[in-house]
Amino acid sequence: MNKKLNVYLAGPRGFCAGVDRAIEMVKGALKKYGHPVYVRHEIVHNKYVVENLKSEGAIFVEQLDEIKDRSRPVIFSAHGVPKSVPEEALKLNLLYFDATCPLVSKIHKEVEHFDKKKLPVILIGHRNHPEVIGTMGQTNNKIYLVENTQDVKNLPLDFNEQIAYVTQTTLSVDDTKDIIKEIKSRFKKIVEPKKNDICYATTNRQEAVKKIASDCDYFLVIGASNSSNSLRLVEVARNYGSKKAILVEDVESLNLNIFENTKNIGITASASSPEILVKKLLDKLKKNFEIKINEAHYEKEDVYFKVPEKLKH
Ligand code: SF4
Repeated sequence: MNKKLNVYLAGPRGFCAGVDRAIEMVKGALKKYGHPVYVRHEIVHNKYVVENLKSEGAIFVEQLDEIKDRSRPVIFSAHGVPKSVPEEALKLNLLYFDATCPLVSKIHKEVEHFDKKKLPVILIGHRNHPEVIGTMGQTNNKIYLVENTQDVKNLPLDFNEQIAYVTQTTLSVDDTKDIIKEIKSRFKKIVEPKKNDICYATTNRQEAVKKIASDCDYFLVIGASNSSNSLRLVEVARNYGSKKAILVEDVESLNLNIFENTKNIGITASASSPEILVKKLLDKLKKNFEIKINEAHYEKEDVYFKVPEKLKH
């Protein structure tokens, strides 16, 4: 008899509405315009998704000047781009489509709005993440990036002046609360975003992990090491009681010997990881263990973002 394993499956997990829309846009462009279709930056941070789209005819570039055939369309990734990118696309006479998630676009509009009011803007986020680069690039004025509470203390701003803040969409809900608390304790006059900028998908996936982490000896997060929301899920699993938590970038190469002294494992998938990878992982476990699956549902999601008419397929 195989060894027994209890598997706790987090719900919701996997693709969010913004990721779904971005992938559908690339597929729609391939169908409508044929291949190749260029994509600026990984459309979403997941190797499996990127490799699949490559096999269908997408070419991934980091900058627009890498595009060899300028008669072909280009799609900007779900993370959003600085204003300079569509400007450059126009100069290069490129046909472009913007797959920025509407929840990231909402933050871009907030930055523009605060900019018009001449308010200094603090952005809570991770340096060099493409979403942060995109959000900072919505203004020519100074925008202050803070990654932790110490950065808030070091801000070169007058604590008596009025400021506004926004956040990256894929942060840790808990860490961000602490940073906002620090901002509020220092600045007296603050304009806050109307609604929390951390998106529904990030929040729900973290809450779903919190619900089951303490039942788990090992937590497996299917995701990518350059994906902010994947890394945050690993941290949440550890912080909420799982004895160990790891990122699984490649299901096939996962060494099952690590579960030798394990009875209970938790599984989730980041917002940019497709459900097929969860299925592959479960199939792999089933071949080696007798598994009992306990699926939890923290919240039902019914968010859907429309694909632009031109790219419907
Ligand atoms: S994680 Fe959130 S902000 Fe990012 S694409 Fe998904 S829904 Fe949009």
